[in-house]
Amino acid sequence: MTLPIFLIGARGCGKSTVGRALALAQGCQFIDTDYWLQENAQQTIAAMVEQEGWDGFRARETAALEAVSAPSRVVATGGGIILSEYNRRFMHEHGVVIYLCAPVDVLADRLEAFPEEGQRPTLTGKPISEEVSEVLAQRDALYREAAHYVVDAAQSPDKVVSDIEAALQLARAS
Ligand code: ADP
Ligand code: MG
Repeated sequence: MTLPIFLIGARGCGKSTVGRALALAQGCQFIDTDYWLQENAQQTIAAMVEQEGWDGFRARETAALEAVSAPSRVVATGGGIILSEYNRRFMHEHGVVIYLCAPVDVLADRLEAFPEEGQRPTLTGKPISEEVSEVLAQRDALYREAAHYVVDAAQSPDKVVSDIEAALQLARAS
C-alpha cells in the first residue's frame, strides 16, 4: 500500500500536467480536486464562488480533499488548498506532499500562454504577473509548511516527474 501523493503549488506550476504523467509512471490513479469538485457539483468553480463565495468553495474543497485521499493515488490540488490549516495538516499526515515550486515569471508566462486552463476567477482583478507575485508572496511559506519535499517545477515535465520519483524513494525508505 502506498500513501497518496499530494501535489501542491500555485496555479500554473504544473500540478495537473505533472500529476497525470507521474500517475502513469507510478501506475497510480490520477485525481484533480478542481475537476472532481466540478464533476461532483455539476457546476464550474466560477459558479460555486459566485453563489457561495470563496468560503463556501473552500469548504467544498476540504470535503473533496478528504473524499479523494486514498492509497495509490496522485492528487493534484487547487492552488489555495493550503490556506486552510486543516488541509495542510491533513495532507501532511495522510500522504506525501510535494510542492511544485516555480518563480513568478515562469508561472505568469504559462498562465498568459494558456489563460483558458486557469478556470478560476482571478483573485484580485490585477495584471497576471502582479497577481501571481502577490499570491506567491502570501502562500509560499504555507506551501513549504505543508510539503514534505520541494521540487523545482520550472524544469521540463519529465525532469519534474523524475525529481518527484527520487523524493518518493527517499520517503519510502525512511
Ligand atoms: P496547474 O494544474 O498547477 O494549475 P497545469 O498543469 O494546468 O498547472 O499547467 C499550466 C500550464 O503550464 C499548462 O499549459 C501546461 O501545459 C504548462 N506546463 C505545466 N508544467 C510545465 C512544465 N514543467 N514545463 C512547461 N510547461 C508546463
Ligand atoms: Mg490544475
